Amino acid sequence: MIDLSKYEIWFLVGSQKLYGPQVLEQVAQHAQTIVRALDSSPAIPARVVYKPVLTTAEEMHEVCLAANSAPNCAGVITWMHTFSPAKNWIAGLKALQKPLAHLHTQFNQDLPWATIDMDFMNLNQSAHGDREYGFMVSRLRLNRKVIVGHWQDPDVHAQIGAWARAACGWLDSQNMKVARFGDNMRFVAVTEGDKVEAQIRFGYQVNGYGLGDLAAYVQQASPAEVDALIAEYLDTYEVAAELRPGGARHQSVRDAAQVEVGLRRFLADGGFTAFTTTFENLHGLKLLPGLAVQRLMAEGYGFGAEGDWKTAALVRTMKVMSAGLEGGTSFMEDYTYHLNPAGMWVLGAHMLEVCPSIAGGKPRLEVHPLSIGGKEDPARLVFDARPGPGLNVSIVDMGNRLRMIVNTVDVVEPPAQMPRLPVARAVWRPHPDLKVAAAAWIYAGGAHHTGFSQALTVEHMQDLAEIFDVEFLLIDEKTDLRQFKNEIRWNEASY
Ligand code: MN
Repeated sequence: MIDLSKYEIWFLVGSQKLYGPQVLEQVAQHAQTIVRALDSSPAIPARVVYKPVLTTAEEMHEVCLAANSAPNCAGVITWMHTFSPAKNWIAGLKALQKPLAHLHTQFNQDLPWATIDMDFMNLNQSAHGDREYGFMVSRLRLNRKVIVGHWQDPDVHAQIGAWARAACGWLDSQNMKVARFGDNMRFVAVTEGDKVEAQIRFGYQVNGYGLGDLAAYVQQASPAEVDALIAEYLDTYEVAAELRPGGARHQSVRDAAQVEVGLRRFLADGGFTAFTTTFENLHGLKLLPGLAVQRLMAEGYGFGAEGDWKTAALVRTMKVMSAGLEGGTSFMEDYTYHLNPAGMWVLGAHMLEVCPSIAGGKPRLEVHPLSIGGKEDPARLVFDARPGPGLNVSIVDMGNRLRMIVNTVDVVEPPAQMPRLPVARAVWRPHPDLKVAAAAWIYAGGAHHTGFSQALTVEHMQDLAEIFDVEFLLIDEKTDLRQFKNEIRWNEASY
């Protein structure tokens, strides 16, 4: 499971020597009070760490270099309590390679109207000190999140928390290794892309393996390891009698468990946190991994089907960002439509591989034939996604840039049973409606595969896009197609 409390966000306070030691001591105390509040805020999942007040260009440069090389530092928050002449920040900001947020706050929430004097004014200067600093960040063309409000304001904590989650996702991505079993599904375009550019932009590496490499691991799974997993399945899911030990089709579940043991060990041995499969290439495996993929995703692994490494990595990053939040995150595909004018919905599903973290109830373990691929009947978990707000995210390679597209949705209770559809599924109404959302998605070149989440919000994804410095297109309740097409045209010019 993913633990974000191992990550640190450094809190940097800029000032200058002009004010004398007494004022600087007060600045330090105030900053420590703020850091204690942010560090203990349940809205901020990472640790917030105080750093001594910075008064010279050398100190600022030094702390930025230290942040770069601190392995658990996911980002820095900056704040100018007093006036911090921003030429002092040039060397530090130029060197900084970690995500940057700018907290535009003031220690005092209220002006002390009756007692305010020039001492108060000189201490509480962020209203102009932060503007001086902000100019320099803009002058250097650096991406950052500016968060405005009092440091005890829950909305400020929420905004810092969203950014901190994106920063943790970014840091995880720098060290991510994606295992690709087989190559791309033949002839498919959108799942391809420039892996070198992706590694430069996102940090993660994508490495291909022959199916024989995985098959060897699967063959080595011991009966005791398979037994242990069967016991876990029986504990966790609804399992029909014929699939239980002694049942007529129990062997199919054992085959699936054997694949899980092997796949799990392969990923652990190689330090992989995301992977892809493709049903066209299963050499040496008895079946398409369905159950194993679903269970590994539920533990935080990223996954993409048909060789889709961009979505596999995206799902992993979304898993990291959503750790500890209500609601699940999964690999997903826009599969089929309900186009009735009375209510238009998307049925999202895949052949097998949807994460049970989005399940509305206890998943059922079932075994059914797969109509494509020509292998044995694979085990899978079957369930409906829980109703409520969610979003779909796609990353596509436009040739000259990587583009992130987000569409907000409302997951609905399926209006009827689907007794003959033995896969996990989600039914949703995309925003603003199916016609506009699908048209906008298609104009944007969005993929059929997505990272789907009921835990993350637009703010999380936009913060992530800013940190990665990739194009961000949002399709939501406010989307107007004419404007959206213009946005695409203007972005083309901007890139
Ligand atoms: Mn697919």
